Amino acid sequence: MVLANSDSVRLIRDIYADRQSVDRPVISIEFFTPKTSKGDQVLCESTLPALIRLRPDYCSVTYGAGGSTKSKTLSVVDMIQRQFGLTAMAHLTCVESSKNDIGAVLDEAKELNIRNILALRGDPPGGSGEFVKADDGFEYSYELVRFIKANGDFCVGTAGFPEGHIACTEGKHVDWGYLKNKVDCGADFVLTQLFFDNDDFLQFRDYIVKKLGVTVPICPGVLPILSTKQISKFTQLCGARIPRALAARLKSLGDDDEATTAFGIEYATKQCEELIREGVVGLHMYSLNKAHSTCAIIKNLGLS
Ligand SMILES: Cc1cc2nc3c(=O)[nH]c(=O)nc-3n(C[C@H](O)[C@H](O)[C@H](O)COP(=O)(O)OP(=O)(O)OC[C@H]3O[C@@H](n4cnc5c(N)ncnc54)[C@H](O)[C@@H]3O)c2cc1C
Repeated sequence: MVLANSDSVRLIRDIYADRQSVDRPVISIEFFTPKTSKGDQVLCESTLPALIRLRPDYCSVTYGAGGSTKSKTLSVVDMIQRQFGLTAMAHLTCVESSKNDIGAVLDEAKELNIRNILALRGDPPGGSGEFVKADDGFEYSYELVRFIKANGDFCVGTAGFPEGHIACTEGKHVDWGYLKNKVDCGADFVLTQLFFDNDDFLQFRDYIVKKLGVTVPICPGVLPILSTKQISKFTQLCGARIPRALAARLKSLGDDDEATTAFGIEYATKQCEELIREGVVGLHMYSLNKAHSTCAIIKNLGLS
């Protein structure tokens, strides 16, 4: 067992700042907290060891919709840091949490030497519907960013939406203005929502950097498609667009998840190759707790 000490746990903003070269993006891998003990076992004994062999720069662990995995998120982050000696980040949301509740999570994080937090408003229970602010809680994630910064020496990430956030009826440019506000409140870096057309990310990055003057790292989120049914559900929930040619290809693959997974690896590899040519600072891989696709993509890119 590798025990994390204060040296092996790094601030993610330093990881981005210390990137070795422009063609070597920072690799981060996202996991979700399993809901069953079988899921825990697969994550710990098979998925995590396989993905950590790729030597990612850091990992991140989601906070279940509706705040359903509060303490579990911290314990998985702690386990990754201790057992694998790798920096890990806890996601934290405002859902059903008062300031006191959030303060208690931050205290626990400090005790566990968790130094990186992704500050989110969060998905409501069930993953869709209206967000409802908790009593004495936060309405928007910029308030959470500010609160975390005021309550500890944490490095804080925030979410960005290359196509605009689904609930922002005023359009993507207004949503991107809110992102600038989150950075002004102290966010140290941005991780984006999944997208399938790199032009969406590049336009977003251009606008945020050149027009709004944001200088923190902006890292694209990449999701390897595993099944047509699953990706339709995800994109409906988060509002990401499936380009016409991709939709046609997925339709032709139908319910054949094996063929769809193979195609998903090919598609995400091409997406990442182009993003690397465009000088992205990192690639944040949504692993969906499956090792195969992420391993294949990172190997295809020659980054393992
Ligand atoms: C990388 C990544 C990881 C994620 N991990 C999780 C997770 O672990 N758990 C989970 O539940 N969800 C997760 N999500 C989903 C996220 O919680 C949802 O997309 C949520 O709906 C928005 O979160 P946010 O932090 O961007 O919210 P906010 O920044 O609060 O934005 C929410 C809405 O309010 C608007 N808004 C923002 N600021 C203002 C303002 N000042 N005034 C008026 N309107 C404003 C925005 O345009 C947007 O429509 C993740 C998303 C990403 C991209």
